[in-house]
Order: sequence, then C-alpha cells, then structure tokens
Amino acid sequence: MTLSGKTAVITGSNSGIGLGIAIELAKAGADVVLNSFTDRPEDHAIADGIAQDHGVKARYIQADMSKGDQCRALIEQAGACDILVNNAGIQHVCPIDSFPVDKWDAIIAINLSSAFHTTAAALPVMRKAGWGRVVNIASAHGLTASPYKSAYIAAKHGVVGLTKTTALETAEEPITANAICPGYVLTPLVEAQIPDTMKEYDMSREDVIKNVMLKRQPSKEFATVEQMGGTTVFLCSDAAAQITGTTISVDGGWTAL
Ligand code: NAD
Repeated sequence: MTLSGKTAVITGSNSGIGLGIAIELAKAGADVVLNSFTDRPEDHAIADGIAQDHGVKARYIQADMSKGDQCRALIEQAGACDILVNNAGIQHVCPIDSFPVDKWDAIIAINLSSAFHTTAAALPVMRKAGWGRVVNIASAHGLTASPYKSAYIAAKHGVVGLTKTTALETAEEPITANAICPGYVLTPLVEAQIPDTMKEYDMSREDVIKNVMLKRQPSKEFATVEQMGGTTVFLCSDAAAQITGTTISVDGGWTAL
C-alpha cells in the first residue's frame, strides 16, 4: 500500500516503538515528523537517515509532551497531519500509597493528556484535508492491570477511552481513531532492564525473558517494533476504513488469559 502524499506525526519517536512505527510508515511512503523533548544533533540525524533510506520527507521537531501548549505547537509546526500516532510514554513502578505525586502527574501528562492535546489540534487539520487516522499506542495495561503501576495503568485505560470518544466524534467523517495495545516489546528501554533482573533473580538471560518478563505473555516471545509499525500501517490502509473506536492487541495472547 502507499501512503505517499500523507504526513504522519509520531510523538516520542527518537527511539523504540515510535521510531519503529515512523520507519514502517516511511517504508509505506508517508512523510514523517519525528518528535521527542530533546534537541540533539542525533535526533535530527535519525530523521535525515529515514529520508535518505526511504525517499520521503522526514523532520524532527522538539516538543515536550508533558506540556499541553507544546503538544499543540507540534501539530502546528508539522504543517500537515494526516496520520497522528500518540506514542510518547514513560513508566514508574511503586505502590499507590508511596507513589510520588510528581511521577503521577508526569505520567498522566505524557501518556494521556498529550494525546488529548495533539488530537484536539490535529482533528481540524484532518477535516480540512478530508482524511485522517489517529493511532494511539496504549498497552496491554490499557485493558488489564498489574500492581505498582497505578499511574501508567490509569493513563493507558484513559487512552483507550479517549480513543473511543475520538472515534465517535469523527464517525461520520473519513477519519478513524484506534488504539494498539502492545504486550512486552523488546525496545532499548526493556533490553536495558535485562542485566539488572538477571542479577536480582540470579537467572540466565533466557530465564529472565521467559519466566519474569514474559510471564504473562503466552507466546513467550517479545512483540517487535516492526509489528507495531505494520499494525499502524494496516490501520492507515483502506481495508481499515471501517475499523474505528477499537483496540488491537499485539501481545502474544496476554489479554486472552
Ligand atoms: P521508549 O522509552 O523507547 O520510547 C518512549 C519515547 O517517548 C521516547 O522517544 C522518548 O524520548 C519519548 N518521550 C518521553 N518523554 C517525553 C516527553 N516529555 N516529550 C516527548 N517525548 C517523550 O519506550 P517504548 O517502549 O518504545 O514505548 C513507547 C510507547 O509504547 C509508550 O507509550 C509505552 O507506554 C508503550 N508501550 C511499550 C511497551 C514495551 O514493552 N516496550 C509495551 C506496551 C506499551
């Protein structure tokens, strides 16, 4: 399929799932706008590399997704936004009664409120263009819970709710809104946790992956950033034009348990 002529804005896309999605959208022909809160030469180099490898326009725009005005400015600076992928996210693990208030506020702002602000700014742009796709990266934790991740789970359940409301408000237009719910994906962030967990449990790498990290993922395999990208490209295809307001789990069976 070709997304040539479409512009995709992907929040939090200088690494991990966001970058994987940007690359798959570029492979499908879309121009891409990458984002994070940093403004380093390497951030811009990632965009230049995508442009060179896939023959599309690619730009990096710095914007802090914890700040509503910067979320909205990102869409304005992008100049076009046919495809909006709300991906930026952080995590903090702690019991509720000692959960730091600043971490709660940051997680709700970056993982949930940013999607409200970017969607609010992007919908008028999509309406003007006569076509749009909103793809929110939620989580298996948008559908189920685990202890000690209260802010993340509240935010991701919120993202699923926001997705449904966005879909209903655009239902009679050529715009769809859906959420992808990944299980464990082997991103640099997750990879970095393996050595510490090996030490903590005195386990081999294989045992940590299978029996600790993927304990709730029946396939016992990580999902990949390419699969998140491929699912996003599918949601942008004509075949998905009547798929709206729903979640697609890419979690090796986690939520079937
Ligand atoms: P990651 O840390 O590699 O990516 C997070 C991205 O968000 C980075 O590009 C980071 O720079 C960006 N970001 C963080 N704070 C930001 C801010 N204030 N403003 C702008 N950008 C900011 O992690 P990832 O694993 O690729 O996660 C991406 C998304 O996928 C997150 O929403 C996460 O909750 C979700 N997710 C990840 C997994 C997993 O197993 N890796 C599973 C389910 C859902």
